[in-house]
Amino acid sequence: MKAAVVHKFGQPLVIESRPIPEPGPGQVTVRMIASGLCHTDIHAAHGDWPVKPTPPFVPGHEGVGTVHAIGPGVSSLSIGDMVATPWLGYACGECRHCLTGWETLCLKQRNSGYSVDGCYAEYYLAEAAFASKVPDGVNPFDAAPLTCAGVTTYKAVKVGNVRPADLVAISGIGGLGHLALQYAKIFGGTVAAIDITDEKLQLAKELGADIVIDARTEDPAAVLQSHGGADVAVGLAVDDKSFAAAYAGLRRGGRLVLVALPSEGTLSIPVFNTVLNGTSVIGSIVGTRADLADVFALHALGRTKVIYETRPLTEVNESIDEVLHGKARARIVLEP
Ligand code: NAD
Ligand code: ZN
Ligand code: ZN
Repeated sequence: MKAAVVHKFGQPLVIESRPIPEPGPGQVTVRMIASGLCHTDIHAAHGDWPVKPTPPFVPGHEGVGTVHAIGPGVSSLSIGDMVATPWLGYACGECRHCLTGWETLCLKQRNSGYSVDGCYAEYYLAEAAFASKVPDGVNPFDAAPLTCAGVTTYKAVKVGNVRPADLVAISGIGGLGHLALQYAKIFGGTVAAIDITDEKLQLAKELGADIVIDARTEDPAAVLQSHGGADVAVGLAVDDKSFAAAYAGLRRGGRLVLVALPSEGTLSIPVFNTVLNGTSVIGSIVGTRADLADVFALHALGRTKVIYETRPLTEVNESIDEVLHGKARARIVLEP
């Protein structure tokens, strides 16, 4: 099978031929139809984070495809089922986090395209329990971005406890942000969308943003404060400055949800103001299988719109450049 492989951090991925993985007990092999390009895959390929993957590895964790082969002991899936293969490739199911609905915090978790080979390939080896069924009527190219960008931002909006009439700032209208905006509206919020390209700000308007803020020419904190301050801000831009601006744009009692992961990202906050203003700063990591089921259900009901462009897997390096230069419309979905 064809796979896109990282051999050295910061170097172009290499398209190479690998054997099709055989499923072991509890596993399935999935024939990939669509594989979203999340900015996390770029961080992985660049070795941006303190905990690094080990080259050679195959990135990708927004995979959607059909079950091709089934290992011993798997009864939840059949050949031909359409499934999504997310970042959370495995969690133990037994620890305190797993037992309390926080499998995304499991210390024994395995992550697709990071600690195990991912979905930038024609076939992907999944743990059957973590391959989520895609409902009928949800097309695989919509389902792929929902599998990380969707579930992550749905969870972030829940973690931010968005309530009707809240002003919600979405900082960064990329793959994640264009969906975050829609979930914030579904939860009843008024949305202020912040970005640094004309195309993304235009897209935000088309998707129903109530306020758009161009961080190149406006001070996002000042604009948010002119509207009374944000109740919730979701940080999705790969830029430390954007976190500081979102923090400064909060109303008293506001919640800043950190999601983006810039290399060596830091946010320095004044303790006095944080205490006096009753501000919360919360980290949010992807979402659970139950969150993903909600995301697919909302999409099947026609309540979200996924904006994507497709590229062949062989154009993965050009596609990464497009994302880094802000040229991709919202999400690029690779076709293995
Ligand atoms: P993306 O490149 O598609 O989107 C980023 C957007 O931010 C772009 O539209 C860009 O124009 C905009 N931007 C850049 N600088 C800005 C600024 N100063 N102010 C406002 N907007 C700005 O990336 P993505 O795939 O949406 O991922 C975003 C980040 O989220 C990445 O760091 C990724 O690793 C991270 N991520 C985290 C989780 C999690 O579970 N916490 C899950 C998925 C992705
Ligand atoms: Zn666990
Ligand atoms: Zn992702």
